[in-house]
Order: sequence, then structure tokens, then C-alpha cells
Amino acid sequence: MGHQPNPVLSVVVPMYDEEAVLPIFVERLRPVLDRLDVPYELLVVDDGSRDRTAEMLSVAAADWPQLRLIRLLRNSGHQAALSAGFQRARGDYLISIDADLQDPPEVIPQMLAKARSADVDVVYGVRSDRSSDTVGKRVTARMYYRLMRRLVGREIPHDAGDFRLVSRRVVDAVNALPEGGRVFRLVIPWLGFPSADVTYVRAERAAGETKYSIGKMLRLAFDSVTAFSAAPLRLATWLGALGGLMSLAIVIVALGMKAAGHTVPGWTSTVLVVGVIGAVQLLCLGLLGEYVARMFQASQGRPSFLVGYDSLEDHGHTAYPE
Ligand code: UDP
Ligand code: MG
Repeated sequence: MGHQPNPVLSVVVPMYDEEAVLPIFVERLRPVLDRLDVPYELLVVDDGSRDRTAEMLSVAAADWPQLRLIRLLRNSGHQAALSAGFQRARGDYLISIDADLQDPPEVIPQMLAKARSADVDVVYGVRSDRSSDTVGKRVTARMYYRLMRRLVGREIPHDAGDFRLVSRRVVDAVNALPEGGRVFRLVIPWLGFPSADVTYVRAERAAGETKYSIGKMLRLAFDSVTAFSAAPLRLATWLGALGGLMSLAIVIVALGMKAAGHTVPGWTSTVLVVGVIGAVQLLCLGLLGEYVARMFQASQGRPSFLVGYDSLEDHGHTAYPE
């Protein structure tokens, strides 16, 4: 299959239904990679696309020997697709980049140069400007990063998404983590390898629509919180205690009024007690459910993705099965 010597750089791109942006992406990325002074591989992880992404990728791979295709059997999500890339990348360095050109490929050589000259294991792509994002995205992102900085207990690079370089040491460390539902932008700072930043201006999505549905964003938020903190559980306990104290106070007041011979408005206090306790219990149950679900998943040991195809292991044929 005429494959290159072991690449120094693996560029990992998760793609889900990216037919609209794929041609422009290839056109922008290829000259940047071909100009690098090191051998590279471009590892595209097709996250179970339903459109023509798969087909278009195999066409592109036909005259791009460094393009390596991995196809997940079903849509497993952005982070799971990244996990697949981490597991299969062969390079001494790995750069993950989105397919929609929001992360400019031109920054890739800068990241590589920085990693080598500063001798760091991680180079974060940090957005110097988010004005291309919608107000809703900016507000939720700010809340998310503020909370995560607290929970992870480490500095999470401001506005760093999943555009970053990591060294082989980091790749191996991440792969050794047994957990599923990994959130890379938290796990990597948490590991604590020496790092540097490269700032860039975040562009608008070059074509197509966002592949992050509300559901997927919520999933990411829940995974982020439950992976790193039992604080919500403590909050639930705290709220439960508060609710308990409140209802106790109400009971004492009601008893006091009764002892003093006043008519007790029993209905109101009963409703209050039932309401407070009910609300707190529901809240706690919800939070417990999140943790129990995580434990359940872990105990099942289910993979968070399954690889259906890897062009490197495809002997003889270069076809990219649908
Ligand atoms: N993506 C993926 N699987 C998914 C959702 C997204 O592989 O289930 C990829 C997508 O193709 C893109 C990257 O993850 O390369 C980031 O997604 P997107 O740009 O839609 O997210 P946004 O920038 O809107 O947050
Ligand atoms: Mg995007």
C-alpha cells in the first residue's frame, strides 16, 4: 500500500456529516501539511456519517497517500471519535482539529514549532476572539469554562477547544485511562504535562451546519461534571439538609402555634413540607442518577466506539466501504 515511514505528526480530524465542508477543508489543509518538514499522516475519523462524507473521503484518499481513514460503525460523538484517533495515531505528535475550518490549518506548523522549541508536551490552540460565535454559544461557553476550572482544580486554558497538539507521552497517558466518556479538553489539562499556548482567531464554520445538537452539548456538560467532581453530590446533600432544616422549622412553628392555642394553618405547612422535601428528593435523585449511570457504563465496560474500517489495515483494496 505504499505507506510512508512512521509519521512524526498525526493530524486527527473527527467528521460527522461534513460533505459540505470537506472539499474546502482538503484544499486548505493539504498544502499546509505537504509543506511540513516532517512525515505526517492525516487520520480522518468518520463518526458514522450518513451523508456522502465517506464516499468523498475515499475519493480524496485515492491521491493522498498520507490520508488514512477510520470509520466508526455508528455515530459515537466528537469526543469518542477523538478517542479513536488517539488510539490509532502513530505519530510522535498528534494534533486534533475540527473539520469545519473554524480552527485554521495554518496554525499547525506553529504548534509543531512551539512544541519542539519550547520542549512542551501540549500546545493549546487558544481562541483570541470568539466574535464569530453566537451570543448563546459564548455565554454558555463562558459558564462552562468557569465551572470546569473549579471542578478540575487546574487552570484550563481559556477558550481552548479541541484544537491542540499533544506529544506521544500524552497520547499514551490518555489511552491508558480506563474511563469512557472522556472529555479531552478537561482530561489533558488534568494530566498536567508541561504546556504552551498558540493563539488564533476562531473563524466561522466554512460550510454546513453545526454537528453539535443541544442534546450533544448537554451530554458533554454532564460528562464534564461527573467525570471530575462529586461536588454536585455534595450540593445535593447540602440542599437536602437545608430543606430538612426548613421543614423542621416549619414544624416547630406549627407546634408552637398549636401549644399557644392558635389555630394552626395546617394545610399550608403540610404542603410546604411536602413540597420542599419532594423537590429536594427529586433533585438528589436526578444527580445520583447521573453518577449511577456513569458507574453502570463503567461496570459494563462497553467501548465508547467501535472501529469498522481502518485504511491502514486494508490490504490490497483502497475501497472505503459504505
Ligand atoms: N463531530 C463528530 N461527531 C459528532 C459531532 C461532531 O465527529 O457527533 C465533529 C464535526 O464533524 C467537527 C467537530 O466534531 O469536525 C466539531 O463539531 P462542530 O464544528 O459541528 O461543533 P461546533 O463548532 O458547532 O461546536
Ligand atoms: Mg465547529
